[in-house]
Formats: sequence, structure tokens, C-alpha cells
Amino acid sequence: SQTPFSEPVQPLKVTSPNVKYTDTHIIADFVYQNTTVSKNIDGTLEIIPTDTKYQFKTELNVPKVGLMMVGWGGNNGSTLTASIIANRRNITWRTKDGVKSPNYFGSVVQASTLKLGVDANGNDYYIPFNHILPMVHPNDLVLGGWDISSFNLAQAMERAQVLDYDLQRQVSPELELLKPLPSIYYPDFIAANQSDRADNLIPGNNKQEHLEHIRKDIRKFKDDNQLDKVIVVWTANTERFAEIIPGVNDTVDNLLKAVENSHPEISPSTIFALACIHEKTPFINGSPQNTFVPGCIQLAERERVYIGGDDFKSGQTKVKSVLVDFLVNAGIKPIGITSYNHLGNNDGKNLSAPQQFRSKEISKSNVVDDMVASNQILYKSGEHPDHVVVIKYVPAVGDSKRALDEYVSEIFMGGKNTISLYNTCEDSLLASPLILDLTIITELMTRIEYCAGDMKEFAPFDAVLSILSFMLKAPLVPPGTPVVNALNKQRMAMENLFRACIGLAPQNEMLLEHKAP
Ligand code: NAD
Repeated sequence: SQTPFSEPVQPLKVTSPNVKYTDTHIIADFVYQNTTVSKNIDGTLEIIPTDTKYQFKTELNVPKVGLMMVGWGGNNGSTLTASIIANRRNITWRTKDGVKSPNYFGSVVQASTLKLGVDANGNDYYIPFNHILPMVHPNDLVLGGWDISSFNLAQAMERAQVLDYDLQRQVSPELELLKPLPSIYYPDFIAANQSDRADNLIPGNNKQEHLEHIRKDIRKFKDDNQLDKVIVVWTANTERFAEIIPGVNDTVDNLLKAVENSHPEISPSTIFALACIHEKTPFINGSPQNTFVPGCIQLAERERVYIGGDDFKSGQTKVKSVLVDFLVNAGIKPIGITSYNHLGNNDGKNLSAPQQFRSKEISKSNVVDDMVASNQILYKSGEHPDHVVVIKYVPAVGDSKRALDEYVSEIFMGGKNTISLYNTCEDSLLASPLILDLTIITELMTRIEYCAGDMKEFAPFDAVLSILSFMLKAPLVPPGTPVVNALNKQRMAMENLFRACIGLAPQNEMLLEHKAP
């Protein structure tokens, strides 16, 4: 098996009676402190602090991991692949601004830090995010995947027009050797304007056979590359929503039967998700469509295979999930949020069709719900800001997406405040690092188990990985549980879970050592 491309990381060692190390695992005792609140008939609140004991067990050995992308030959897939190769080989390239070197900026795992604690002088001590627990390094991921377009990855990178020419030139020979596997194409699910690139297809119309084909692809990729684990990420075109039809996709049995019968409402992305679940391979959906129909979520829960989604949270929505959180927490009332986007890449072309736009519109629309619901002083029950999203295809701007947002808020004494934002950025350079974060954190989650209450043994988390929400526009959560969109809360959830796994208390910013020494 190949030697890792990454530098080894010195593992952290926590000194605490609550933390045990074995040759293979770290086991941490953790008390989850919460507060339950209920309203009495007389309107008073019953407030009870609660302590729940958990044990977290994390496998320390970082396995050999494969990342298979559906839509590998797209802008994201080709940009990520070329960038990983550039990082692995430390390739530098010339631009009119000078010589550039590769990095992983935009990846939480690779390029952000977290506060571990304080040093002897009371100063914050930060570590790279990926030092908190052993994580796979992107340079060590084995890459593969599918595309309905037969372009090899060098051609795909050139078609994407994202990376600088001098970099493309240098990574091309290696990328030429990478060719996406044929994929499933049901023309009804993506825009008609995509048909001219669909020349790399698994033949036939039998959906059960397609599912078996994808399963075989995953197994072969794993065997050929001697991988311990594979993670699959959907970064293919946005599909239209599948209709939820009782008897077709509402339960596991109905869904599997519908696949056997090649029912027209079963989408390619759902076939991929089912194939992954059968192969015990986590599947993440980076696009907005409802891949995870109820029967699919049920199957993941039953088989205890991780799934995550939906839709990468890269630009406009990320800012929205920060800005609205800030406004509402500052006691300011957003009443109108208007977002225009225009972009000229293939994603934009696909989204210019009404049904595919509709998927994106839905995924962008609920992003402020939890923040609005959190403040009953500003918003009466059921009240919501006006929120409109427009997306237009403008080929001239290519992958450099423009996002124009206007936030109108009500302020003190009937006054109005308007914030206007103009954001321009290569779309794929924002999304590609998210694919890494989703892959790396999902893989880490497959190595963490917990034990609580009267559980007899350690078990994996709920199959729906809501811990990935930071990277996702419309976070999928276990059925019946609340969706968190606010970016800071999403990050805290990740940070604090990983801290708990090494026996550390959740992050708090009280700084009592300086205020009440
Ligand atoms: P893209 O159009 O360049 O790439 C998509 C690729 O998927 C294409 O190469 C296409 O041939 C392929 N494809 C389509 N259907 C397929 C199938 N059934 N099987 C295999 N391959 C298939 O788009 P992109 O810019 O790389 O974005 C990919 C997806 O990520 C889009 O759905 C987009 O909405 C979503 N997304 C992107 C961003 C971002 O780039 N900032 C943010 C959020 C979500």
C-alpha cells in the first residue's frame, strides 16, 4: 500500500482520570450538561439542569480512505482533484501576480484552528483543527468516481476554466490518466441542456441493474486500491425534486420494490445513495435535491450507515447564516432578504431550467428559519421575513459567481437599516474544500462510537450526520429533530463533540481566569 503523502501528526495526550488510552483507542468519560425547560399551567417555567453521562470511544488508527465523487468530471470534481495533486506534489505555478503555491484554504479541517485551552500566562492556545483527533489528510485520499461525461480529468479541468493555466499545464499529465466511470443518466431529472455531454453511460433502463452496477464499482475501487473505507460524495448536477409517492418511496420496502420495478420517480442520486448504504459506504449529497426520500433515510437508519446532506454551503448562504444570526442576536429584525445570483458555469446552465432551479430555491429558502424562531420578541409566532432568491445563467462570468444580497431590517423606533452585499468568487474554489471537510469528518465519525444510559455496548451515532451541517445549506437531520442553520452553532457542535471525545469540556468564552482570578 502507498506511503502517505502527508506529514505525520503528533497525537494529543490528555492527562485526566476521565481519559483512557489503549493501543488502538481513546476512551473518554463525558458529562453532557443541559437544561430542560417546560411551562407550567400558571405560566411559570420549570427549569432543570441535567447531567447525562456519555462515554466516547475513538479509533486512533487513520485508515486508507477512498473518495468517490459522483460528477467527478464537473467543475468541483476536477478542481478538487487537480488541487489535491498540486498539494501532494507541492507544485508551484506562475500567475501575473507572481508565483503561487498550493494550499487548502477554505477547508475547516485543513486551514482553521481551534482553541485547545490556555497557556501558563492565560493566553489562548490554538491547534490546527485536524490535530484534535487523528484525521485522514486530503493528500492521502485515493480519488475516483463517476460522470455521465467521458472527459478525462485533464479535459474536465480545462473545460471547467477554474485553475490557472500554468497549474493546469503541470498537473495535466497525471490527470489525463484519471477517467470517470460510466454513470446513470435519467434525462428527466437534470436539465435538458445537459444531454450533449452525456456520453459515458451505464447501458439500459433497469434501475435494479444500475444499483448493482454502482455497488460493484464501489467494491472494485476498494479492492483495486486496497482501501479500508470509501466515502461517496454527490457533486453531480442538481436534479429536480422526486415526488414523494406513498407506496413508492415512502418506506424501505416500497422504495426497494420501486427500484426493482424501475419506477420513473426514482432518481439517479437515490440509486447511488441506496448502493452506498448496501455497501456500508457513507454517502453525502452536495446538491439540493431530495435524494434522501423517506425510504432511503429509513434504510440508512436500519443499516446504520452514515448519510449527510444537502447542498454544499459555500457562499451566499454561508454569509446569510452568519449575518442573520448576528442581526437577530443583536436585537435587530430582518424583514426582507433578497438574493440575486448569476453564474456562467455548467451548474448555472443546469439551474437555468425551472425544475432544477426550484430544488436550489427550496434549499436556499429555509436557512434563516431557526434564527427567526429563536427570537419571539422580534417575530410573533408564524411571522417570517420576506425572503426571495433569484438565480440567472450568464455564461460570460464563467465559474466566477456573483451574489448580490440586500438585507432590510427594522431597527430602533421604527427606523430601517439596509445592508447590501456584493460577493464575487470562483464558485468551485469555495465548494471543493467543503468536499474535503465532509469526507474527512464523515470518515472520522465512522471511528467514533458512544455509550450512554442503559446501553450495553458502544454504538455508532444516528445514521443522519447532522454534525456536517456547517458545510451544508439545507442540513439533513434525524427525522423529528431540529435543524440548526446558524453557522457558529454548527461549528461549536463539531468542535465540542471532538473535544468531548478526548475528555475536554465544551468550549466556553467566559475567561473567568481573567475576570475573577
Ligand atoms: P458541474 O455541472 O460542473 O458538474 C457536475 C457534473 O456532474 C458534470 O460533469 C456532469 O456531467 C455530471 N453529472 C450529471 N449527472 C450525473 C450523474 N447522474 N452521474 C454522474 N455524473 C453526473 O457542477 P459543479 O459546479 O461541479 O457543481 C456540482 C454540484 O454541486 C451542483 O449540483 C451544484 O448545484 C452543487 N453545489 C455547488 C456549489 C458551488 O460550486 N459553490 C455550492 C453548492 C452546491
